[in-house]
Amino acid sequence: MDPVTSVDPTTAEALVGSRIVVADDDRITRDLLASILSSHGFKVETVVDGQEAVERVARGGVDLVLLDIMMPRLSGLEACRLLKGMTSDTFLPVVLVTVKTDTASRVEGLKIGADDYVCKPFDDQELIARVEAMLRIKKLHDHVAKARARLAELSIHDELTGLYNYRYLHERLSEEFKRAERYHDPLSCIVLDIDRLQALNAVGGRPLGDLIIKGVAKAITNSVREVDVVSRFGGEEFLIVLPSTHFAGAVTVAERIWREVGAARFEDSAHRATISVGVALYPSRDVRTKDALLRAADTALAQAKRDGGNRICVFQQEGYLYTPATGASEAPARSERTTERASAEKHDGEA
Ligand SMILES: [Mg+2]
Repeated sequence: MDPVTSVDPTTAEALVGSRIVVADDDRITRDLLASILSSHGFKVETVVDGQEAVERVARGGVDLVLLDIMMPRLSGLEACRLLKGMTSDTFLPVVLVTVKTDTASRVEGLKIGADDYVCKPFDDQELIARVEAMLRIKKLHDHVAKARARLAELSIHDELTGLYNYRYLHERLSEEFKRAERYHDPLSCIVLDIDRLQALNAVGGRPLGDLIIKGVAKAITNSVREVDVVSRFGGEEFLIVLPSTHFAGAVTVAERIWREVGAARFEDSAHRATISVGVALYPSRDVRTKDALLRAADTALAQAKRDGGNRICVFQQEGYLYTPATGASEAPARSERTTERASAEKHDGEA
């Protein structure tokens, strides 16, 4: 599935087509370098000085740069220093082209970050060998960087739905709670569970279950704002943190999700799913801490389940349990208004 795990980046074939920029003010050297590199399957672009080389790299897609040392406008050494500064988070190999006797420039070049050098007059075989060695290192570097980015992504996301995972949510909830406490801001929490998912799994197998989980995830993301934090908790449980949101706003969101899931059809209309929802608000009489907020939402969800599922329970001073009307005409005016995307920016518009 992912090329990260399936491609060996160090084979010669993997290097073919790499894009190399050749910077030299001397036309004969430039053309010679270009023709040798092209004949080995590399895509070569030539420029006449360091300035042009830097500009070309800035446009992206370059895998390696060959820099002559003595060039007008911007010398090879100056260009090398700039290129290494520009590409500090990636690896762009820079190879200096020097004359054999110019040891001082070579030493200076390597000190400021050049990765290798070739000497004029150069030997074709050696040039290609050095270029390929550098490109192999770059490929490995890119490969590791890609794998690392994927791991970072996985470490905070749930793979099936792309929502945040449990660990990330706990971190964010702590931050949001501290903020709400400090600024006396309301903070709502919604816990949501898919009813009878095990039974649906038994009927349609895991693929149906996964489809429903993804459908519910989509209904949730359609119903919340950018600032709300949505995570998948366990197999069929989701938790939503709604900063700066009062009771009425949280209930509006819960209703919106409940309606969208109820209206959805899975696998050629054969299956439907319902959800149970628990809503809790900080601050309220029994909710003074982060843990109490989570407990309250859980308690409300448990009550919704106990009463048969497919309903919303609000943990207020006394549990308030209800099933929203399904017909559009019966729907409260508030819900109709808030289904519009524009008003979704603020859940508490009417409060
Ligand atoms: Mg020159």
